[in-house]
Amino acid sequence: MADKTILIIEDEEDILALMHYNLTKEGYQVIGALSAEEGLKFLLEGKPDLVLLDLMLPGLSGLDLCRRLKGAEKTASIPIIMVTAKGEEEDVVAGLEMGADDYLSKPFSPRILAARVKAALRRPRRDVPPPADNSALHIHELIIHPGRKEVLAEGQPIDLTFTEFHVLYFLATRPGWVFTRYQIVNAVRGEDYAVTDRAVDVQIVGLRKKMGRYGKYIETVRGVGYRFKD
Ligand code: CA
Repeated sequence: MADKTILIIEDEEDILALMHYNLTKEGYQVIGALSAEEGLKFLLEGKPDLVLLDLMLPGLSGLDLCRRLKGAEKTASIPIIMVTAKGEEEDVVAGLEMGADDYLSKPFSPRILAARVKAALRRPRRDVPPPADNSALHIHELIIHPGRKEVLAEGQPIDLTFTEFHVLYFLATRPGWVFTRYQIVNAVRGEDYAVTDRAVDVQIVGLRKKMGRYGKYIETVRGVGYRFKD
């Protein structure tokens, strides 16, 4: 892991120092920046494997920087974990829709920080579609057959509508990633569907009901969206 470089952009020096210490201890090369502008300077010279990005920064905001990184070819593929304070759910939604990969809410423990960084470096990027090979997906006690549009829970079929199936499959192919309602609708129906938060919520309610005790794998992330349990 020593070959992985992490750029932390955080204006609170204590928090930056703490994150720097903990990630260095985990074996990463860590670079700290106290502003988006300072972070950009590093990004022009080197290419970190991951950026931890505080959203509330003086000057250029974390969201502005996220937009710039995801919009530039050189930096678009670098995973971004947003670091947020309570009450910034709207910014989290905006950041995820811009292409940020994940987020961490302050305060967080060193253990959570290390786990999320490790996961973001390990997992395929959330905006890369899974291989369309139609082979069955095995997750927890579920087997999901995209070709047959069939779900088996411990061998028992679960009868889902077409849309419910696609919502489930979309989430289950990227366990652990949080998706906004908008992203779910786009993935399932295509761009031309009239997007309402309610439409996704209705699908999720239906899905959970039909999945019974397996419905717990679809987790609600308050104020942000949904996630399939990792
Ligand atoms: Ca801040």
